[in-house]
Amino acid sequence: MALQIFGIPVSRGIAVGRAVLMSSARLDVAHYFVDPGHEEQEVNRLRAARQAIRAELDALQLELPSDAPPELSAFIDVHKMLLDDPQIGRETATWIRKRRYNAEWALTAQLEVIGRSFDEMDDAYLRERKADVEQVVERLLRALRGTGGMARGTAGDEDLVLVAHDIAPADMMQFKQGVFRGFVTDVGGKTSHTAIVARSLDIPAVVGAREASRLIRQDDWIIIDGDSGLLIVDPSPIILEDYRVRKQESELGRQRLTRLKNTPARTLDGQMVELLANIELPDDCETALAAGAAGIGLFRTEYLFMNRAHDLPGEDEQYEAYRRVVQGMNGRPVTIRTIDIGADKPLDAEANYRDGEFTHLNPALGLRAIRYSLSDPAMFRVQLRALLRAATHGPLRILIPMLAHATEVHQTFIQLDMARAELAASSRPHGVPETGAMIEVPGAVLMLPLFLKHFDFISVGTNDLVQYTLAIDRADESVAGLYDPLHPAVLQLLAQTIAQAHAAESWKGRAVHVSVCGEMAGDPALTRLLLGLGLRSFSMHPAQLLSVKQEVLRADCAKLAPLARAVLAEYEPEGQQRALAALMN
Ligand code: PEP
Ligand code: MG
Repeated sequence: MALQIFGIPVSRGIAVGRAVLMSSARLDVAHYFVDPGHEEQEVNRLRAARQAIRAELDALQLELPSDAPPELSAFIDVHKMLLDDPQIGRETATWIRKRRYNAEWALTAQLEVIGRSFDEMDDAYLRERKADVEQVVERLLRALRGTGGMARGTAGDEDLVLVAHDIAPADMMQFKQGVFRGFVTDVGGKTSHTAIVARSLDIPAVVGAREASRLIRQDDWIIIDGDSGLLIVDPSPIILEDYRVRKQESELGRQRLTRLKNTPARTLDGQMVELLANIELPDDCETALAAGAAGIGLFRTEYLFMNRAHDLPGEDEQYEAYRRVVQGMNGRPVTIRTIDIGADKPLDAEANYRDGEFTHLNPALGLRAIRYSLSDPAMFRVQLRALLRAATHGPLRILIPMLAHATEVHQTFIQLDMARAELAASSRPHGVPETGAMIEVPGAVLMLPLFLKHFDFISVGTNDLVQYTLAIDRADESVAGLYDPLHPAVLQLLAQTIAQAHAAESWKGRAVHVSVCGEMAGDPALTRLLLGLGLRSFSMHPAQLLSVKQEVLRADCAKLAPLARAVLAEYEPEGQQRALAALMN
């Protein structure tokens, strides 16, 4: 019987492939296929690395002072022995020859296999020897660095899916280049940033699958159903065939949607709806344009900073990145968010740990987003100057994440004025971008007039708004069942925000543009509800855009408004279900 594992579906579609198990710590090694016919050259690269490490260990042993404890030399002997072990030499070469993995990838794949056999040992002493193998592999990975791999070939005949305990958002980003056809993690929630990046890659993914990385073995065949969250390990040929057909059908359905790309997003009663794209890197503009996005509603700039704690992008580098997006979008509005570092997007994953201990107990409530930027004003102004300069190239809008206090608003504008003055002092041209506040904290909704007074636009970050309203860690799979965007409290806050932004015209003299850029905006099952609540601007991953547009084209806002009000009036689940069912029909 095939093994079935249930997790949280976070990126739609079906993937069928062989499992590649990887420890979370080693996801940052390069993963590529060597060109067919170049396998032996890659095996030689591995051999050369082993020889280099052997020479290094020999030298180390020779240099040991005469009074060094004898365990030290014995310890080096163990490493030399492991280096010669066929499990490391021959078996790693088999991954290269059989699967055309590059040497680094083959090593980490084999380490996973060896690690498991150690974990299963009864003898505690032997079990602890796993650390020695890890150190030897670490040395080999270091020796391979900079030795230049073979030219990157195309994928092998079989698709591969990645299975890991966890994948950091920054590591997930490096898979944009596409070796893997699906992702599975033990931990995570629907709106954890790892899940968000998986969705932006538009690759089927299931997170929060608890024991998956323990139950699935290297090279197992697995099916990932990104629509239902089901994983099937070692499926029978009949199930495999069934899923292959489903996969083809779902791909066909998506292809059909591309016909809507140039259709204006207008509802049946003539309301124009703005469909914008969320992006993580400047290159994502192409995908946004290909999906027919009317602009960029959220550029998460923190991805330019992650894993670069000691080498943060400077003003010119950032300016180039922002300019590329503004110019790439050809006159369409581009909303660029200042960095949202912290919580599950640390600047440097290791920075959250000291001596193996987690240093912040509640990172989601800690130094993140605007708090982080204001704690380092010089760094903040580097980003603001780059943004102001890029604004000379087109309609750029600056968005500030996670504001909650009036002082944060005032401080932000002070920093913006200073950045402007610095540019003026050195005669550098700069534009006058609109500024916007992200509404992500319930407290901000309760004092919305302040934000509406100071900002030109607001954007609701529902991912965090749900997290902070319901006190549910969005990245924690153990409470994922309670993370509910349809919770009456969340809907009340959302409805209030949209209504107050519209009403601002009466006292401010001009409307305050309101958009939703959290994952709710990209969920076609929620499009009718959001339209009914009065929302006319949605920002989402490009992959979701056409499904949402399909819903917009079928909707009649005049009819949806009273139905959405009826949903808001319900606090009991049954009543809400009934009201939602009426809205969906
Ligand atoms: C949000 O919180 O909804 C949002 C869009 O920001 P992020 O997901 O990057 O926290
Ligand atoms: Mg957020």
